[in-house]
Amino acid sequence: MVQCDECEKRAVYFDSVTKVKFCGPHFSAWFEKGVAATIEKYHMICPGDKIAVGLSGGKDSTVLLTVLAKLNPDAELIPITVDEGIANYRDDTILAAVRLCERLGLEDKLISFTDICGKTLDELLEKSPEQACSVCGTLRRRALNLAAREAGANKIATGHCMDDEAQSVLMNYLRGDVTRVMESYQTDSDKVFLPRIKPLCRTTERATVAYGLVNHLLTDLPECPYTKYALRAGVRTGLGILEYRNPGTMHNIVTGQEKLLAKLGPREGEVTKMGRCEVCGEPTSHRLCAACTLIEKMG
Ligand code: SF4
Repeated sequence: MVQCDECEKRAVYFDSVTKVKFCGPHFSAWFEKGVAATIEKYHMICPGDKIAVGLSGGKDSTVLLTVLAKLNPDAELIPITVDEGIANYRDDTILAAVRLCERLGLEDKLISFTDICGKTLDELLEKSPEQACSVCGTLRRRALNLAAREAGANKIATGHCMDDEAQSVLMNYLRGDVTRVMESYQTDSDKVFLPRIKPLCRTTERATVAYGLVNHLLTDLPECPYTKYALRAGVRTGLGILEYRNPGTMHNIVTGQEKLLAKLGPREGEVTKMGRCEVCGEPTSHRLCAACTLIEKMG
């Protein structure tokens, strides 16, 4: 039996960076401490915050809401589930989200793509399924912003973990999208959009899933049927191999990006002033916001 480094119990998790082995309770305590440290380091939560938590019912957001409820008993948490309308996938995760909220004594607010544009994601993608993730991401942001504002939240928390962050950094480079690489220094969007926080941004997906399993939060790990179309899928696989061979690779990518932005410093001269979308009134630097442009284009 492989033993926990902290006690005599059987180890269930091995951290490949620190080389520490944990039993279930010690792993959970280590994981929660890491999330608390991230929240503190980036000043994510303040007293009196009303935090809308994006809750898809998948592994990341399930763990996020559970840990936030445990670590921040004073913060007001408002779970929001977006139903994109993906057959044979989303119904199960919505059910999981509703059950989790019942267990935590929270009320889950539901908003769907049909509410915001009259169609499900499946209907929008009938002719072009390969566009799934960009359409889904744009409309999901709109839905979450709308529901969070309606609920009176002053922040939105999402379940993005370190893998997502590292993938996004690499994808911006792979697309040659320099604007996105320097995004946080190029807009004054923080003043007009609800600020977003990502408390799991320094924990790996592997650790997040392990936390969910150790604490019996996950019954199933369903995968969206559109995942195969995403550029992210290839980046995810490649990064997974690199991380396995060189533990700490993802951490280096996200902290390297942070250092790069810090070195660039505030780019006051290049700040993009935000106006309002002519159709919906959401903040945008163009005539129409990204969601309304998309809805107009997809008819
Ligand atoms: Fe949306 Fe793409 Fe994620 Fe599926 S994989 S839920 S389409 S972003």
